[in-house]
Amino acid sequence: KAKELGRNNFQYFSADMNQDATERLGTLNALRQALANDEFVLHYQPKINLLTGAVVGAEALVRWRSPARGMVTPNDFIPLAEESGLIIDIGAWVLRTACAQAMAWRQEGHGGRDALMVSVNLSPSQLMRDDIVDVVAGVLAATGLPPRLLELEITETVVMRDIEKSLDKLARLKMLGIRISIDDFGTGHSSLNYLKRLPVDILKIDRSFVNDIATDEDDAAIVKAIISLARILNLDVVAEGVETEAQRRFLMENGCDVGQGYHFSRPLPAAAFASAWLALPGETAGTGRLAPAR
Ligand code: C2E
Ligand code: MG
Ligand code: MG
Ligand code: MG
Repeated sequence: KAKELGRNNFQYFSADMNQDATERLGTLNALRQALANDEFVLHYQPKINLLTGAVVGAEALVRWRSPARGMVTPNDFIPLAEESGLIIDIGAWVLRTACAQAMAWRQEGHGGRDALMVSVNLSPSQLMRDDIVDVVAGVLAATGLPPRLLELEITETVVMRDIEKSLDKLARLKMLGIRISIDDFGTGHSSLNYLKRLPVDILKIDRSFVNDIATDEDDAAIVKAIISLARILNLDVVAEGVETEAQRRFLMENGCDVGQGYHFSRPLPAAAFASAWLALPGETAGTGRLAPAR
């Protein structure tokens, strides 16, 4: 930022900046304690079959329940966790907790015969670590979750930044039997040539495109193009940020099978997710928009 303002501009380094730095340090120290103090929690957002309304999976999304700051959303602490390296431990906790939860739901008989998939976001530095494959394998072994029920979400920019390294990592992760999706697809600069070579299973259409599909012709065209691309490459496609019935219908009619968004449900704490979306044997499944609004 300072660079943008020009080399001779010293005004930027004002009291403001010092305060920012102090605040950052405070947040960083608090974040360091957060794991030990058990301050993280996962919320789960259902992935919905757009045709039937059935829940097919859940994306685990981390929140920080800070005693001093209240409920902090990932955008407000993941970047700092990423820069400081804390994301490695936080990410491992997320993976373990999400897999253990999915396994618990499975053992309780939630979700019926069709087992529920769980999706976990993987940060750039997690993916680039040499031990990531061992970490994932270790969590699968420790929790007993069948690998086919785990999906890792990786953002497009990360993969494209270091394509050769990503190809190797993703190939070895795939060999564990898990599924891999490209998150926020359309916002980065995927080379179609590499996309073809990437061992991934799913494209997640970024919600910035989904937002205006019912009203903006360009966004509608982009979303249709992504859906066709997915079909050509033999990938599944998931739309994020589905907020209205018009968006759901557009996506369904254009061949997108799965969506997630506030139209169906916000991310919910585990217990609330289970009671809204998962049926025990003998119960009627929680169905789509009949779920209580929260
Ligand atoms: P993401 O993986 O693309 O997750 C989707 C985000 O969109 C979530 O925000 C979700 O709550 C929000 N969302 C879902 N449906 C709608 C909708 O209909 N409308 C709108 N406006 N938003 C919707 P959240 O939970 O704040 O997470 C933000 C980002 O933080 C995630 O984006 C992901 O990149 C990152 N993140 C979350 N949890 C983790 C984690 O455990 N590890 C890592 N490395 N990153 C995480
Ligand atoms: Mg995601
Ligand atoms: Mg996303
Ligand atoms: Mg997104």
